[in-house]
Amino acid sequence: MTDPQPATGPPGEHWAATIPVRAGDRTASELLTARLWVGGARGTWERPGALVAWFDRPPDALDGALVAALPVGTTWAREPDVDHVAAWRAAARPVRAGAVEIVPEHLADDHDTPAGLHRILLDPGQAFGSGHHDTTAGCLEVLAELDLRGRTVLDVGTGTGILAIAAAKQGAERVLGVDTDPHAVVVAGTNARANDVAIDLAVGSLDDVEGRFDVVLANLLTATLLELADDLAGSLVPMGWLVASGVGAARGPVVAEALADAGLVDVEVRERGEWVVLVARAPAP
Ligand code: SAH
Repeated sequence: MTDPQPATGPPGEHWAATIPVRAGDRTASELLTARLWVGGARGTWERPGALVAWFDRPPDALDGALVAALPVGTTWAREPDVDHVAAWRAAARPVRAGAVEIVPEHLADDHDTPAGLHRILLDPGQAFGSGHHDTTAGCLEVLAELDLRGRTVLDVGTGTGILAIAAAKQGAERVLGVDTDPHAVVVAGTNARANDVAIDLAVGSLDDVEGRFDVVLANLLTATLLELADDLAGSLVPMGWLVASGVGAARGPVVAEALADAGLVDVEVRERGEWVVLVARAPAP
């Protein structure tokens, strides 16, 4: 396991690319989002007809192939002194999903969580998973239906740690979160401490994980799920549950088929806005 270091970027200046995308073309915008992150984006935001990506460098300092591949109509703007984390904090509101209410940490003193819901304090920083996205909320809803007491849970692509923390709050005995992004692992660790839950965290992916789990959570991207389908199936105990998302509605059937090909049974595709959450089980021994 690598010792994660928080990412540091030059403060103050950002460059925003506004990239036209065809409304409803989930596959194109998922693939583009993945490429932008790989290319160094510090944040992305989807709005109707466009994807906005922020970078901490000007376009001529980015991967030239990425910049050249952006569609005609892409515009770049320099945004001095915009702190997107501060902007997120100012706009953030508590959000409920499944058995939890996610409360932005800076609102902790001013907001009461209703009885019966687990409260998760969260400061996403620059990691993904504030609870506002349909894919995260959809996974939390499925998680609420499972009896996690005494169970082991693996969260692949933990981001802010939101799903892993929710699983621990719902009584899971052991929770392991992994993420290929070292910065996300730092953020998840901070959030786990803020919520008084013990979760194990590691930089890496399924290859780095040993053993099998009662529940595996995987809110990733379609392409990643297709690639990892066999390994995800292999990381479950017999009758274990897989909860996967990050898949646009149009791609649900393709991912469902890949999970069935990997040997999982009772594959279910649930719609959540423009996205789907897939629920499947490992077969009985
Ligand atoms: N679990 C959170 C975050 C999901 S975002 C939620 O549900 O809201 C997806 C996360 O997966 C990102 O933090 C990204 O860094 C990570 N990721 C992407 N590909 C991965 C892979 N192959 N293995 C592990 N983590 C991965």
